[in-house]
Amino acid sequence: MRPPLASTFTVLICLLSLPLLTAHSSPSRATVCIVGSGIGGSSLAHFLRLYSSPNPDGAAFDIRMFERNGVVGGRMATVDLSSGDVFEAGASILHPKNFYALKFTKLLNLTVKEPSSSSSSSPSLGIWDDQKFVFKTLGCKSDLPFVQKIVSYANSLLVFLRYGFSLLKMERFVQSAIGNFLKYYESHEFRPIFESVDEMLKWAGLYNLTTTNLGLELSDAGLSPLLLQELVTVITRINYGQSLAISGLAGAVSLAGAEEGLWSIKGGNWQMASGLINRSNVDLHLHEEIESISFVEKYYELNSTKGNSYKCEVAVVATPLDEVNIRFTPPISIPKRRLQHTHATFVRGVLNPEYFGLKAVSEIPELVGTIEVPDLPFSSISVLKRHDEKDMTYKIFSRKPMDGALLDSIFSLRKEAIRIDWGAYPHYNAPEVFAPFILDARHLYYVNAFENAASTMETSAVAAENIARLVLSRFFGKPPSSSSNLGSFASDKETFHADL
Ligand SMILES: Cc1cc2nc3c(=O)[nH]c(=O)nc-3n(C[C@H](O)[C@H](O)[C@H](O)COP(=O)(O)OP(=O)(O)OC[C@H]3O[C@@H](n4cnc5c(N)ncnc54)[C@H](O)[C@@H]3O)c2cc1C
Repeated sequence: MRPPLASTFTVLICLLSLPLLTAHSSPSRATVCIVGSGIGGSSLAHFLRLYSSPNPDGAAFDIRMFERNGVVGGRMATVDLSSGDVFEAGASILHPKNFYALKFTKLLNLTVKEPSSSSSSSPSLGIWDDQKFVFKTLGCKSDLPFVQKIVSYANSLLVFLRYGFSLLKMERFVQSAIGNFLKYYESHEFRPIFESVDEMLKWAGLYNLTTTNLGLELSDAGLSPLLLQELVTVITRINYGQSLAISGLAGAVSLAGAEEGLWSIKGGNWQMASGLINRSNVDLHLHEEIESISFVEKYYELNSTKGNSYKCEVAVVATPLDEVNIRFTPPISIPKRRLQHTHATFVRGVLNPEYFGLKAVSEIPELVGTIEVPDLPFSSISVLKRHDEKDMTYKIFSRKPMDGALLDSIFSLRKEAIRIDWGAYPHYNAPEVFAPFILDARHLYYVNAFENAASTMETSAVAAENIARLVLSRFFGKPPSSSSNLGSFASDKETFHADL
């Protein structure tokens, strides 16, 4: 039976107008694919959305994010002990001038927590040389604020008596590096979009610090050998598992991580990543590892170990490429980099005072730091929680795994041990050579190229912010929306600082 003329006509009109309707109601949207859901990938998604809205002409694009694990956050992760206690297993502390982290915390309604060993609000420090404590500060078990203040003053005096005015020179070195780093929060008007890490570091006056090692930088700044061998080494071993041979910049960042006012996020720093992803309209693929990225005509084709294939106009790698097996076609070229492995071991039990040549557990400092001595089996041991005098939870950082026999010699009682082997951060080696932000001269980007400058949550966010601006200007041909929050953010700096 022939269809009536009117309905044939209607169908024809519909068919003819279909491409038009499609084009109008759903303009073809580009896809930005992000590999990695740590703070780098999540803040990239956030800044891409922030800088392309609320501008109605803003770039329209979808974001797909791939995470090989079942949870987001990467190196921001917590560990659960059988007691029900939850501790930071990876990135744990933030600096009072980590303004993006502060911004995210506020935006996501997260709660700032000032870290303290719950054993005391001012943990005692001991510097261990594998035979004896070469230096110890006082501990304070009192909850009374005035007692804590007195102990804190006494400890400052003890530290000053040992290291003298060199401490002020160290402080000046750190503050100068922080001052330069703050330039990355300047508004877009005054801050270029950087196409390379070198350019980004030179603009902020930080590049030279990556060309020499920390030991030389600090000697030139007039620090005493004792301060370098002891306190500075203790800090670089705790924060980067490495010696004074790290670059001056990584060293300055590490030393900044021992300043006053450090903080973290109640419930876990990983919530920054999950919150940013949730509010950035991201198509998140958990348990999906990307094994290859190929440029095929106009697209990047991302293939996953699940056998899926995704087309993206822009691809961003937000994970260190040093220990992952992603095949690139055409191949990319980046400088060889080794990751420093840090073994984080969480132990519930009690330390053995005899191991430290002491008579009682109470004599062992709550934070045991170490100096560079060959074969010293750990970098640091700190009390995370004091359940009672003979039952505590400790965190140990070491360069090699802590096996059972070793733990049995250090602990007189051990109820539980959880071990995590982190491919933690670059093994810093000045002069640093940086991988490109743009891996292929097209639209394949690499956030973690910046990690050779320093590896922190904040530096990942700063690098990701720059990559977001690069993507928006290079691919979408638009300068990032000037109505970004950064304008008001710059003036918020002091408020955030005061909030803490
Ligand atoms: C023990 C330790 C302590 C630290 N302490 C601090 C600290 O106190 N303060 C601080 O600021 N920083 C600290 N850091 C450094 C900080 O954790 C990192 O600099 C930061 O978290 C890096 O974030 P990212 O997003 O760049 O990378 P990551 O957090 O490593 O995220 C990358 C993500 O990509 C995923 N991935 C990798 N390959 C693939 C693939 N092929 N397909 C899909 N997904 C993939 C990974 O699973 C991971 O989730 C510490 C790190 C460690 C390990």
